[in-house]
Amino acid sequence: MADTRPNILFIMADDHAAHAMSCYGSRINRTPHLDRIAEGGMRLNNCFCTNSICTPSRATILAGTYNHINGCTTLSTPMDNRLLTFPKLLQASGYQTAIFGKWHLGIGPDHCPTGFDDWAVLPGQGLYHNPDFIFRGPNGGMRRVVQGYVTDLITDMCLEWLQRRDRSRPWCLLYHHKAPHRAWEPDEKHAGLYLNEEIPEPPTLYDDYSQRASAAAAAEMRVGVHMERFDLKCEISPNLSEHDLRKWAYQRYIKDYLRVIASIDDNVGRVLDYLDAEGLTENTMVIYTSDQGFFLGDHGWYDKRFMYEESLRMPFIVRYPREIAPGTVNDDIILNVDFAPLFLDLAGLPVPETFQGRSFRPLLRGERVPDWRQALYYRYWMHKAHHNVYAHYGIRTRRYKLIYYYADALGQPGTIDETYEPEWELFDLEKDPYELHNVYAEPAYAATVRELTEELRRLQVEVGDERYVKDVD
Ligand code: CA
Repeated sequence: MADTRPNILFIMADDHAAHAMSCYGSRINRTPHLDRIAEGGMRLNNCFCTNSICTPSRATILAGTYNHINGCTTLSTPMDNRLLTFPKLLQASGYQTAIFGKWHLGIGPDHCPTGFDDWAVLPGQGLYHNPDFIFRGPNGGMRRVVQGYVTDLITDMCLEWLQRRDRSRPWCLLYHHKAPHRAWEPDEKHAGLYLNEEIPEPPTLYDDYSQRASAAAAAEMRVGVHMERFDLKCEISPNLSEHDLRKWAYQRYIKDYLRVIASIDDNVGRVLDYLDAEGLTENTMVIYTSDQGFFLGDHGWYDKRFMYEESLRMPFIVRYPREIAPGTVNDDIILNVDFAPLFLDLAGLPVPETFQGRSFRPLLRGERVPDWRQALYYRYWMHKAHHNVYAHYGIRTRRYKLIYYYADALGQPGTIDETYEPEWELFDLEKDPYELHNVYAEPAYAATVRELTEELRRLQVEVGDERYVKDVD
């Protein structure tokens, strides 16, 4: 008898912030094909990552655990491919499984993808043009160059795999783009987009970091100031003031960022058309998300890592006509650690006790879940490396965000071992949605600080991350 369980098309981009998608109200671009997913299903407004950087977020998604559990705390901690992951469980239950595109969890026999019937992944970050891929094979796979543009190539691989699938069994396909990761290299088709346009600037492009802990001013990810020639594809004038440099570089940067997203949008459209043509739309859950958010000139920055909103928030739109009403939205706090439980739930499988997230399938159906979480725990471990962002952890509720910069490498791989005096930040997101004014020391917030600090400690114990916590008093 045919297995009619739903298919899963899990599309994930790399560094695609929600505020560069028109279904999230973008002021700077249109994403008509991505919007098809939101229009046909649900948009999550408060989906967040637990560590805003590639490898850690990807490990959390696959293994359903926080990084202190799965060991992938930084970019220098490849995932042990013996870990239990949701694709392995789906595969064991009869699903056809595959991943094509960005992996970034390590290469070689101990780190290559496992739990997939077929795969082809980019080594490391991968290239935009004529990239190497590692194809499924013995001893960690076989590497070879493929001619073409990475976003098209990954899409072609996915469509070819779908074409040759076993039509009597459900499938789960991880369609994972490299784009729009740095260094934002568009294809020929989209290179001329926005040429004679001025892209609107974000309200915090000229942030001076004056009302914050010292971490914000110390970070080395300012648009223009901390960019290289390969980022802007031209020489950077040494004579500009920092204000003018940010203004000029923002336009160069954001146009390329949006151009590579335009290619994703086109290619996702191809795959959605294929589902329609094959009669697969009804019985397939389609997700579009990104491994974390990104600063699009917000706070004067590019990159991610901070627990600030633009980097913490993941876009997440999902379409599954059998259960999700079209054009709906959800505001609950949903985390990347919840994705694996959702997929298992959808396939009718139990969620292992060791998985730390929770299936949000009832929320997608529009049901209320009275005991759903009211706060999230976040931790960025990769102290100082790459962009001089201090290690920190924190808690976010609907209204507040409390961040503790413990500013210590704690021996984590890939960090820089220089320690600073710890500092706190508290933001009242209702009054200060752009997180420009740290109110931690203001007497009016003393009770809030006490409550949130207690809740932070409680969450650390709940997720099992109290071991490496420095004294928070
Ligand atoms: Ca990323």
